Amino acid sequence: MSDTIKYQLSEDRIARNWYNIVADLPEPLSPVLNPGTGQPIGPEDLAPLFPMALIGQEVSAEREIEIPDPVREVYKMWRPSPLYRARRLEKALDTPAHIYYKYEGVSPAGSHKPNTAVAQAFYNKEEGITKISTETGAGQWGSSLSFAGALFGLDVSVFMVKVSYNQKPYRRALMETYGGRCVASPSMETEAGRAILAADPDTPGSLGMAISEAVEVAATNDDTKYALGSVLNHVLLHQTVIGMEAIEQMEMAGEYPDIVIGCAGGGSNFAGLAFPFIGAKLRGGPAPRVIASEPAACPTLTRGKLAYDFGDTNHMTPLLRMHTLGSSFVPPAFHAGGLRYHGMAPLVSHLMELGEIEATAVHQNPCFEAGIQFAKAEGIIPAPESTHAVRVAFDEALKCKEEGTSRNILFNLSGHGHFDMAAYTDYLSGKLEDKDYDHDKLDASLAALPAVAAE
Ligand SMILES: *Cc1c(COP(=O)(O)O)cnc(C)c1O
Repeated sequence: MSDTIKYQLSEDRIARNWYNIVADLPEPLSPVLNPGTGQPIGPEDLAPLFPMALIGQEVSAEREIEIPDPVREVYKMWRPSPLYRARRLEKALDTPAHIYYKYEGVSPAGSHKPNTAVAQAFYNKEEGITKISTETGAGQWGSSLSFAGALFGLDVSVFMVKVSYNQKPYRRALMETYGGRCVASPSMETEAGRAILAADPDTPGSLGMAISEAVEVAATNDDTKYALGSVLNHVLLHQTVIGMEAIEQMEMAGEYPDIVIGCAGGGSNFAGLAFPFIGAKLRGGPAPRVIASEPAACPTLTRGKLAYDFGDTNHMTPLLRMHTLGSSFVPPAFHAGGLRYHGMAPLVSHLMELGEIEATAVHQNPCFEAGIQFAKAEGIIPAPESTHAVRVAFDEALKCKEEGTSRNILFNLSGHGHFDMAAYTDYLSGKLEDKDYDHDKLDASLAALPAVAAE
């Protein structure tokens, strides 16, 4: 058998529809609530923030939602993305397992995020919007939306968490190259930012704070809408192109996964790969184990509570029922910035509650160890976020070796790490610490969750 096995679909195999798992759920999702009234919100509540087409997708129960031609046309730049059988890695690990990975780092921004950025930019453009505001942590979402904005002629303003703004000048340069405007958050441009700075002028910023700023700009300007890169139903929907391609590519390989793995920050790349497989199971198909891998320093699914909570620090968003560490929780610094969010997608949280998925939390040193071994065998340097999926795939492959059984393991390699080499330098020089979160602060943050009558 050849060592280099790549399953590549032709351009006409790009999906014509996104897959909406809501249609196959055995129990419905809890509604999004208005924090003032405690009642479910309606489309009009979201209209200041999102175009109507995306609001429709957010609440849709239709199984298939058509991908507009102009979006498919952009997808052709890098989709269908390749699926590889990691033969060299299997040999290095000396495992009987068959390891497959879907590689989303082939997009122009280097991750899965353009799958939804392009769709969101398209629908905003269609509805006459000229400006989009958003937030970004490590910069992957900001650069993906800036890229999409450049294609569709939209002005993109990105509130970037201040500590990352200072530490990651190349991500900022990437956004600016695509024409995006990048502002360190908290900033003096918004009331939310000015209030946060007045209270704490030296704050490093957080994703929750940056969301407050971006939402405020959209809510107070008619020509501006807001865009979110994960968590919401429509974002997860757009990512399902990943799993639909993977199902066809596994057919080409003549195998079906026994285990499906993705790293989970807000849950979008995990859902993108896993939902089409879970949907097939819910409709009577085979039942792979599905594992979400999260950072031990921000363990939303394994340590958080399933409860209604705000999406941002300043409590400007509606209430989502999700696994959460509390909107005031600030995780310790670690390198996978894209996994540092206090909440988890309501759809992923719901599937966890239904027992359709499992979750595991891993520390960053073992993740980088696996990432480097993966790079040596397969050549691709995983994004720090993606190494969390690599680690869990390793652990499952090593279990197969111990047990002397072969299983088919499929994981999502959500992006490459070319803009994160400082993290690899830290690991290689032994400077990477496995920080734990502050247990007392987490308890306090969870104790302060909003009280909601509907629960
Ligand atoms: C943003 C990001 C993530 C985390 O976001 P999800 O919504 O959980 O997918 C994971 N991997 C990469 C490469 C990212 O850029």
